Amino acid sequence: PAATDDPLLAGLNPQQRAAVLSRADALLIVAGAGSGKTSVLTRRIARLLRDRELWPSQILAITFTNKAAGEMRERVGQLIGHEAANGMWISTFHSACVRILRREAQQFGFTQAFTIYDSADSRALIKRIVKDLQADTLGLTVSAAAGKISRLKNELIDAEGYSRQLNPNDPTEVMFLEVFRRYSAELARANAFDFDDLIAQTVYLFRAFPQVAALYQRRFRHILVDEYQDTNHAQYALIRELTRAVEPQHVPADTRIETDATGGIPAAALTVVGDSDQSIYAFRGADIRNIVEFERDFPGAEVILLEQNYRSTQTILDAANAVIGNNFDRIAKNLFTEVGAGDRIVGFTGYSQHDEAQFVADEIQKIHEQGVPYNQIAVFYRTNAQTRALEEIFIRSALPYRVLGGTKFYERAEIKDAMAYLIAVANPADALALRRILNTPKRGIGPATETALALHADQLGGTMRDALGDAAALGLGPKVTAAILDLSGILDDATATIDTALVPDVLTAILERTKYVELLRASRDPQDEARAENVEELVAVTREFQRNNPEGRLVDFLTEVALVAAADDLDDSSGTVSLMTLHTAKGLEYDAVFITGVEENLLPHQMSASEPGGPAEERRLFYVGITRARKKLHLSLAMTRSTFGDTQVAAPSRYLQEIPTELIDWRDAPGMGMRSTSSQRSLGTTRSGREQFSYGTSLPLGKPKTEWANRVTATVRDNGDLTLAAGDRIRHVDFGEGRVTTVTGTGPKSIAEVQFESAGRKRLLIKIAPIEKI
Ligand code: ATP
Ligand code: MG
Repeated sequence: PAATDDPLLAGLNPQQRAAVLSRADALLIVAGAGSGKTSVLTRRIARLLRDRELWPSQILAITFTNKAAGEMRERVGQLIGHEAANGMWISTFHSACVRILRREAQQFGFTQAFTIYDSADSRALIKRIVKDLQADTLGLTVSAAAGKISRLKNELIDAEGYSRQLNPNDPTEVMFLEVFRRYSAELARANAFDFDDLIAQTVYLFRAFPQVAALYQRRFRHILVDEYQDTNHAQYALIRELTRAVEPQHVPADTRIETDATGGIPAAALTVVGDSDQSIYAFRGADIRNIVEFERDFPGAEVILLEQNYRSTQTILDAANAVIGNNFDRIAKNLFTEVGAGDRIVGFTGYSQHDEAQFVADEIQKIHEQGVPYNQIAVFYRTNAQTRALEEIFIRSALPYRVLGGTKFYERAEIKDAMAYLIAVANPADALALRRILNTPKRGIGPATETALALHADQLGGTMRDALGDAAALGLGPKVTAAILDLSGILDDATATIDTALVPDVLTAILERTKYVELLRASRDPQDEARAENVEELVAVTREFQRNNPEGRLVDFLTEVALVAAADDLDDSSGTVSLMTLHTAKGLEYDAVFITGVEENLLPHQMSASEPGGPAEERRLFYVGITRARKKLHLSLAMTRSTFGDTQVAAPSRYLQEIPTELIDWRDAPGMGMRSTSSQRSLGTTRSGREQFSYGTSLPLGKPKTEWANRVTATVRDNGDLTLAAGDRIRHVDFGEGRVTTVTGTGPKSIAEVQFESAGRKRLLIKIAPIEKI
């Protein structure tokens, strides 16, 4: 069809059209949030398929989450019919690599039933190694080792590579090398990959086995990557490998793909879309340079810029532009929209995080009554710990909500146990899974027996599972030996069925023979009832999996579970408010968005302060949050926040000052009336105990720059060294008069429990409560 009435181009602006239609071998689309990058990518795929330029199987589209992959598949299906899109790979980097590795792992010493270790599994393994080597005596913690291993793998540096770059005179580095070596060896022995390996090992596979790489270079003729700004070096290298020309010797005689003059096959086309202002994964090795250097790496690449935003109101965009404008070292771009100014941003400062949560809950009810469905409302926060207060209030307010990420179903102990059984059945080499279930449920196999089994495995030159079957040779007591052999029998019997049995049947057989659920049900611990239900929920999950994948086998199920990413357990059709971290929010959009905890030490996060580029990355994270909102944006903070029972004074985030005052409509919180007596000095200390600065870096003390700062300095008070004791009478600005019953804590953290005459019993942080002694 002619470009003008082509339905695939309907409604697109000229730059978007150009991006959909471009014939460039390498195309880079850089544009701000909500400008249609993902939409354009989707239509580009649809056009390639509709015009029969490629088969679905020749396209590889990479998204950041499985959820985004599902949405893209759905959209392509809507545009050109679901049949037409069958067989296309739309997936995350990790899923694509798992698919490749399942097919090719036997090339380099793994089996196709390999296990995928999540970060908890990796840590458990590293913890054991650190302990064995007493690495902690050199100051090498499990987190430090895990973080460093991950960073190195994302840079494609393995233990051997590291051994060439370390400082041999630094004992910690030498020790780390040993940890890294053992960790890699244990993974290989367990027939397992960790998350970072999925990418790194695929790159290794392609580099070590050019004929394997050629299979995929031939197969994928067009590769498209969304959220390209968040690719790390390993992911970039993978794209690089996949977009190499195929040498003539790797082209089969009967190829249906056009060859060039030399008899080789030209490199696959590549389209990437991204926004360097939304790069929020540098801590995981994401590299903005991948965008900046795209043109150098792919000479002749076409670059298209999109500038019109179709998502948000002008007010929201103005705030976003103002905030991100404070980052240096970026290509200036200004988003505009034709939607109009829309509502002002709503700001709220609560007295505590409960206040803040109450505001969020009340506001959600209000918006909902105005006709916004719950699933069009989202609440974001910087850290998972912030959900507790929100959840408490949401439950009390009977608000339907769902937390994405956080303590997920698959992180629960009982689910990990059941999954460990399935993993041990599918991958007999996996010692980590086996160790987890050795004495779960309790069968009298203690740590000494576990060690004996591990040693026996070494002597046999086999796996721990082999040692289990050979337990009689260990000379242990008859009861223990019987218990081990029983477990061995259960696992072996299950392993024998996995190619033929249905996944739910494998699981129920194990649960019955181990009496796992039965024992939980019989327990007197009330929690165990809930645990039993969770395990039954897992059985339901396997049934659903099998319904959706009639041919699916146990490894397929394990793959699916291992790849369920943070944003993936959400079901948009359900009428619930979504709660998630700012990181999880990337790429999503909602009518109404609440960003909570807009405070120093949370946003920017205190950990970012010490990282080079940390505060700039945190600002991008805030920018990502703001630009998720279509119509309504709410920014909230609390004056005090307690974590793990410790109450701290919080200060407004420096980023709030970057938003022009007139864009925000600040609402009053209870307890905010007392202004005249309050000090305009900064308050309290940071969580690490250091003196904290005032409201933003550039704000001179006592000279508030904006209306907003005026407001906050007026409402945050400092009672200085006011000391209270049981029996004292006080007056609170909201709660009226009352009598102190107890005082706990010392210094700035002193808390008074007060019995108010009409407001009941309250706990107050003395330093900042709006109170006076009477
Ligand atoms: P992000 O950077 O947040 O990932 P994006 O650039 O990928 O954003 P999209 O999600 O593709 O942006 O688009 C944002 C919104 O604008 C979507 O709801 C999309 O349907 C809509 N949109 C995109 N282009 C147009 C257009 N030409 N006309 C109308 N709506 C559009
Ligand atoms: Mg997008």
